[in-house]
Amino acid sequence: MSPLKTRLLKRIAAEGPMNIASFMGAALFDPTDGFYPTRDPLGADGDFITAPEISQMFGEMIGLWCVQSWRDMGRPDRIQIIELGPGRGIMMSDILRAAKVDKAFLRAANVTLVEASPALERVQGQTLADAPCPVSWAGSIADAPLGPSLIIGNEFLDCLPIRQFVKKDGAFFERVVAIDPNNEDALIFALSPAPDKYEDFNAYEDAEDGALVEICPGIPQFIDDLTERFTGYAGRALMIDYGPARSETGDSLQALKKHTKVDPLAEPGDADLTARVDFEVLAREGNYGGLAVFGPLPQAEFLRALGLDARAALLTRSAQDRADVLARQAARLTDDDQMGQLFKAICLQSPGLLTPPGFEA
Ligand code: SAH
Repeated sequence: MSPLKTRLLKRIAAEGPMNIASFMGAALFDPTDGFYPTRDPLGADGDFITAPEISQMFGEMIGLWCVQSWRDMGRPDRIQIIELGPGRGIMMSDILRAAKVDKAFLRAANVTLVEASPALERVQGQTLADAPCPVSWAGSIADAPLGPSLIIGNEFLDCLPIRQFVKKDGAFFERVVAIDPNNEDALIFALSPAPDKYEDFNAYEDAEDGALVEICPGIPQFIDDLTERFTGYAGRALMIDYGPARSETGDSLQALKKHTKVDPLAEPGDADLTARVDFEVLAREGNYGGLAVFGPLPQAEFLRALGLDARAALLTRSAQDRADVLARQAARLTDDDQMGQLFKAICLQSPGLLTPPGFEA
């Protein structure tokens, strides 16, 4: 049994069932036994793979996006580039290499990485040891230096803990993690006995009985962090993740271990846990907060608008022996049955800026 499971069983025995957000928070970020603090889970040998790990072209496109965004802001002397959940630092390294097209941008750039995992922070330090601009770490967006900012995050929002509710007789009951009454070593899903009074379920008034609704308390918090930072300074945030453009009901909590889906309750701390990102809520909260919102756009459209096909053709011309590999990489990023449609890009920015690159169509 995973060490964290032993501790969670004890905790639930003492305190009663825990909600999905607490379970997810512990499984992902428990400082001693959580998934992220204890390992580097990325890449082909790890538990899951992400777009920047698939191809350098992904980060390069984001790099051009950053350079153009800085130009759109009037080329400020200092531009804060803040990456949320940078994983192994590969995307930032590709961004900064692509950004060499504009030396003035690199002179203005100051990179801040916001990372919850000490293990990944170490890897990021190694990957970015020779970065062409200053790189440092901060605990949150608010801790990064003030000033005009670009905020980026790939597969960051899907790690934010979600709460789940099931509609029963017109009321919403929170889904919790409890101990199996038939097996004291097993965790099971259950429903709280009393309906939840506090959450705002207005958007789901029409949901059918039995529907499962997911709410991510971290989204409004994230929007608050953006609006605070973008008050007084120009700011643009680009978030890429998987999820639908319109809110959907249904259970999306998923656990991945060694690239295989596993039971989320089986070995907490030993598998990655994510939930789809609700881009409708993200856009709505952004609008409420006074931000200008662009997208969500399918990842394929976004990357093509930034010039992915031209980049792939150029790389292929200079390395004919890698033509197959490059074609496969581009296909994984953009094909309908790969990441092309499921993954979306959304941009939230301070009012008054130009339309962000990639979102002009
Ligand atoms: N962006 C990288 C890694 C994605 S995995 C890539 O695309 O390859 C998710 C990353 O977000 C990890 O680095 C994880 O440790 C970090 N993370 C998740 N939730 C976080 C939080 N609340 N604060 C800071 N980092 C977080």
